[in-house]
Amino acid sequence: MLVAVVGAGIMGASLALHFAGNEMTVLLFDGAAAGSGATGSSFACLNFFAGATSGYMQFSSEALDYHVELARQIGLVDTIRATGTLRWSTDSIQNKKLLQAGSMAEGLGRTVEYLSRNDALNLEPNLSIVGCPEVILRAPQEGWLDSVHFTKRTIDAAVATGLAHRVREKCTRIEPLKQGVVVWTNRTCYLVDAVVLASGVGINSLLDDLACEPLVDELRDVLTLIQYFGPPIEHVVFANHIHFRANGPSSLIVGNAYDPVGLRDSDVAVKAVRENVSLVRGELKDPSVGESITAQKGTRPVPKDGYPIVGRLPGQERIFIAVTPSGVTLAPYIPLLLTTEIANETSCEALGAFRPERFNPPIGNSPPRLQ
Ligand SMILES: Cc1cc2nc3c(=O)[nH]c(=O)nc-3n(C[C@H](O)[C@H](O)[C@H](O)COP(=O)(O)OP(=O)(O)OC[C@H]3O[C@@H](n4cnc5c(N)ncnc54)[C@H](O)[C@@H]3O)c2cc1C
Repeated sequence: MLVAVVGAGIMGASLALHFAGNEMTVLLFDGAAAGSGATGSSFACLNFFAGATSGYMQFSSEALDYHVELARQIGLVDTIRATGTLRWSTDSIQNKKLLQAGSMAEGLGRTVEYLSRNDALNLEPNLSIVGCPEVILRAPQEGWLDSVHFTKRTIDAAVATGLAHRVREKCTRIEPLKQGVVVWTNRTCYLVDAVVLASGVGINSLLDDLACEPLVDELRDVLTLIQYFGPPIEHVVFANHIHFRANGPSSLIVGNAYDPVGLRDSDVAVKAVRENVSLVRGELKDPSVGESITAQKGTRPVPKDGYPIVGRLPGQERIFIAVTPSGVTLAPYIPLLLTTEIANETSCEALGAFRPERFNPPIGNSPPRLQ
């Protein structure tokens, strides 16, 4: 079976590796550099705390375990920084939500430590932890990923099997036939048995030609990169509205404290960067921050309900979708499950909540467009 994967971000790279692991030949298309989409502009926290429901937290938790297992199998352990996370909020409602999430995580068998401010300061002496939060949650199994490195080396591992091939072409159209699918690119076309669209925010334009409504919203966000010369920060820190972590030996990467939707406006983005720097300085005892500040803009694909979309495109026998807003954490696990489904023609229960059919009106059912 010959499969095309469109998009060489972390999702497409992981799909290529897992198709090859199922003895299937795979063409991995991307006209841009591997990992240059959302994967390259991500905060890249590996976490299971993000989910609002127990089911989603469980899925994320399984995904995190699989990440570690896969990294061991293919020699990428150095890309996973299992530093742990620290979270707190001085807002009573947010604090309550955090504690609920903590007990949900414990119910799923994860380790959650409840620290006093002093305990946390012993672990991270250069934090100041302003506002005396009631409790600080530490999740030692969470951390962050060197996502671009992981993506590139996953592609190398896939190509090394001899079954995966990188095609440096942009896919312009997907044409379903009775016996296969034609992948049109900016150079030529390829007849394959099946296609998986892992093109992040680029998925909408490919679906448009298949007469599908847009599947994902493009959520713009900005990260701030700051030169930092103070004592090392080991954990990924979620302090009230700001989150930050080390990004190499002499820089910090800071997640936006603003509502990302407002960032379409460049004045708001500049203000957000300034605010981020000031908030992080406030959270550090020794705020030895350099002059160089860089805003790194990124766009992540967010399905209408905020959850991943994985599986066969309704009405299309041979076209599949794999798109998620938290792909750094979930990407390797989703491809493990999806490629197993496609290779064995089975249905995986763990993906049940993420099927494209859950939308109303269902996607893939818009009236055919006149050519
Ligand atoms: C600011 C920010 C912070 C984030 N923080 C986190 C976090 O802390 N934790 C977490 O888990 N996730 C986080 N995410 C989300 C995560 O980064 C993304 O979900 C993930 O990287 C998506 O990977 P992907 O491979 O699906 O998409 P992408 O990395 O966007 O890759 C898609 C690829 O498809 C290619 N492509 C598009 N159209 C075509 C076409 N027509 N033909 C060929 N190729 C095409 C693109 O060139 C691109 O390389 C964050 C994202 C952002 C932007």
